[in-house]
Amino acid sequence: MNALEIKDLHINIAEKPIVKGFNLTVRKGEVHAIMGPNGTGKSTLAKAIAGHPDYEITSGSVLLDGRNILEMEPDERARAGLFLAFQYPCEIPGVSIANFLRAASQARLPEGEEIDATAYYKRLYSKMDALKIDRKFTSRSVNEGFSGGEKKRCEILQMAMLEPAYSIMDETDSGLDIDALKIVAEGVNALRGPNLGVLLITHYQRLLDYIVPDFVHVMYDGRIVKSGDKSLALELEARGYDWVKELVATPATATA
Ligand code: ADP
Ligand code: MG
Repeated sequence: MNALEIKDLHINIAEKPIVKGFNLTVRKGEVHAIMGPNGTGKSTLAKAIAGHPDYEITSGSVLLDGRNILEMEPDERARAGLFLAFQYPCEIPGVSIANFLRAASQARLPEGEEIDATAYYKRLYSKMDALKIDRKFTSRSVNEGFSGGEKKRCEILQMAMLEPAYSIMDETDSGLDIDALKIVAEGVNALRGPNLGVLLITHYQRLLDYIVPDFVHVMYDGRIVKSGDKSLALELEARGYDWVKELVATPATATA
């Protein structure tokens, strides 16, 4: 199937079950939001799908357009079309954004094929123009001394250049100010389209004021306990997360 399919996923950290039977299918063109209280396993889910070695997948599967990505190394997962954006991206002093993105683009080419510099810069600048990013930005070192908003711009630019099929964005626990939120939202909205599926993880409803999701899922205690449309996010905003805990007794009727 042309989708990112997460099936009955169970994830342990240090032998402790954190994600406990997570099911979700994200098709291209769709934006799914996952919301849930802190400590519920949202970031664990994102990191394990990316291939983080501390997160042990004990059962279940993750298929990307039918291919089992759990058998792939993290870089292979990226080449297969998966992109992960993290809340706290690392700094790479001495490596300019232009060179970093060029290396990342180069890594996607078949062995022995060299990136065409002129075409690369043309593409980079057109993506930057579309995202309204100043060209001066590319000569700065990756994330070094960046504000929260600039880190987000850098992340969105990476996503634009790598053109993933599926993007998982963990915006949880955010120290994101409203400007940074808007940058993420503008970026996602600009890149949104039939060739991209987005899984947007957020603790706060307000990001969804700017990125209107097609589906909203509530995660609690390692799995989805309720799914709905954008009105579910508003309900969470109004009612908080306490009522969600009661849903656990009758779990996950709708897993989408
Ligand atoms: P969320 O993103 O929903 O707030 P997390 O996935 O970050 O939740 O965390 C889920 C649970 O896993 C929490 O109880 C957290 O303490 C635990 N946890 C997360 N990462 C680690 C880690 N690296 N080592 C030990 N426990 C962890
Ligand atoms: Mg988190």
